[in-house]
Amino acid sequence: MTELHFLGGCKTIGSSAYLVKEDNTSILLDFGASFNGHPTFPQMSRPPNLTVALSHAHLDHSGGLPLLFASSSAPVYMTAITRDLIRILLKDMLRLSNYFLPYEKLEVDRLFRRIKIVDYKEPIEVGQDITITLHDAGHIPGSAAIQVQTPTHDILYTGDINTIDTQLLKAARHPTSSDTLIMESTYALTAHKSRNEIEEEFIETTETIIDNDGIVLVPAFAVARAQEILCILKRYKVSYPIYMDGMAREAARIFLRHPKFFRNYRLLKSALRNTQWVQNRRQRERITKNPGLVVAPAGMLRGGTAAMYLSQIMHNPKNAVLLVGYQIPGTPGRDLLENGSFDDGSGPKRVKAKFELFDFSSHAGKNQLLELGRSFSNATEVFTVHGEAEACESLAKDLHKQYSINARVAETGQRLELS
Ligand SMILES: [Zn+2]
Repeated sequence: MTELHFLGGCKTIGSSAYLVKEDNTSILLDFGASFNGHPTFPQMSRPPNLTVALSHAHLDHSGGLPLLFASSSAPVYMTAITRDLIRILLKDMLRLSNYFLPYEKLEVDRLFRRIKIVDYKEPIEVGQDITITLHDAGHIPGSAAIQVQTPTHDILYTGDINTIDTQLLKAARHPTSSDTLIMESTYALTAHKSRNEIEEEFIETTETIIDNDGIVLVPAFAVARAQEILCILKRYKVSYPIYMDGMAREAARIFLRHPKFFRNYRLLKSALRNTQWVQNRRQRERITKNPGLVVAPAGMLRGGTAAMYLSQIMHNPKNAVLLVGYQIPGTPGRDLLENGSFDDGSGPKRVKAKFELFDFSSHAGKNQLLELGRSFSNATEVFTVHGEAEACESLAKDLHKQYSINARVAETGQRLELS
């Protein structure tokens, strides 16, 4: 008998956690955190014979893992680059929200002792006739869709997935044979423009601003988006001074150690070589005085060096802030887009520099999600997760209406037996 427990990450983005139970064996897929105010985590009573598999490094999937290691000694499977990336992301989380976290460095260290590295497409036996296999999900380096095969079922959890190539990563490569699909819904309401079109518009805007003696600030997520932007600049042969600051540098160092996870490692290497890695305050001051481009986290301007650069360049209409990822409501990035203002620490001020959002998503858009669902038309059940309620509902409805797929929205706390 195979059971599915939806522990978190349903009708929302955050706290992703799904448990597959087969008799006396339990497989936990992700155990993430939510960040609406103080971090919160999924609830789980201790399951028997636990094995954990992590889809990717983002904290909404990985941020709760240390909690398990106050008492558990379960093995935790992930790709090699995911292990290195969660090391910096968990460290950063400890630093930023230490006081509000229900775990400490001790639990993080215990987690690291239990990590087992696995390659894509390498089945791992975790119980009698039960295997888990990771497949490239194309979302960030090392990201995986996770397949769980039991004697009676073949389940695929997409994790966060991207089904198109980017300058950094290849599109997802996953099996389509599963009878049960747990799929993300982040962009179920939005069709993305083609990547080429977005890249070209981004480059054109960048060159116009710098040609007119402006400074371009690109606030970007430290893991993957920052480095993708550098690859695009290299690919389009942008010859202005380019800088990278903040945690993007640490992530880039990790990327360089794991060539096999990239679509074009040579491009990545030369893009990083083409970039000046910011070393000190004097260099930062120079950057805010001369035409050029700086890529810096945080992607939604919530702190990090990006916020520092913006407070320096926002008063000059020659400059520009080019946002390159989704801006969650309530973040300074979203406020900038909606109200044209930024709080530099002394209260909100009008931003005179230009600002614009470029939709470089690392998630499948509406059309790709429908296509992904359609490729599982033989599945007996499809569950939509990881999206706002409206997105999860719309994806389930569209899959049912357009392709007669038995799709429904999963609810946090729901437990069911697979037929
Ligand atoms: Zn993610």
